[in-house]
Amino acid sequence: MKKIAVFPGSFDPITKGHESIVQRALPLFDEIIIAIGDNADKKSYFPLEKRLEWLDIVFKDFPNVRVESYSGLTVDFCVKNKAEFILRGLRTSADFEFERRVGQVNKYMNHKLETVFLLSNVEDTPINSSVVREIHNYGGDISPFIPERVVKQIQNWQ
Ligand code: ADP
Repeated sequence: MKKIAVFPGSFDPITKGHESIVQRALPLFDEIIIAIGDNADKKSYFPLEKRLEWLDIVFKDFPNVRVESYSGLTVDFCVKNKAEFILRGLRTSADFEFERRVGQVNKYMNHKLETVFLLSNVEDTPINSSVVREIHNYGGDISPFIPERVVKQIQNWQ
């Protein structure tokens, strides 16, 4: 049976931290589905179509990586896609506390699902999408935090 992992998140926008988690998880799974949760009550800064497009550009040379969006529960999306693993990244103890709760609730809802955590690279630990959004909003340089392939697109988006 194929080992499929879902990497769920907002990716608003994708950062070097997300990119590295996917690249480092590739040897562990046959397929990784990067799944943007399209959450009705969480308004995004960048539109869904753009976030999907930028993920597609970053991972276009990786045949084992697929990019999707979904609404509803992550566990339901996993079942629909025959994924038995949820992939998440951990930066800090604050991440851990949040992820512990979500991971345990997901396990409660579907005991066949395992959440797999990768620690962030040291250099990626301070990177997060909300800081990137703030820098972008005030016209600052986001290039240190964004995968090279999409810096121009994201920087120039308005
Ligand atoms: P969410 O809205 O679910 O927090 P994000 O898009 O912010 O989604 O993050 C998706 C996943 O990527 C989460 O597991 C998060 O911890 C991880 N992540 C975010 N930024 C980094 C980073 N700089 N290094 C490693 N993992 C990260």
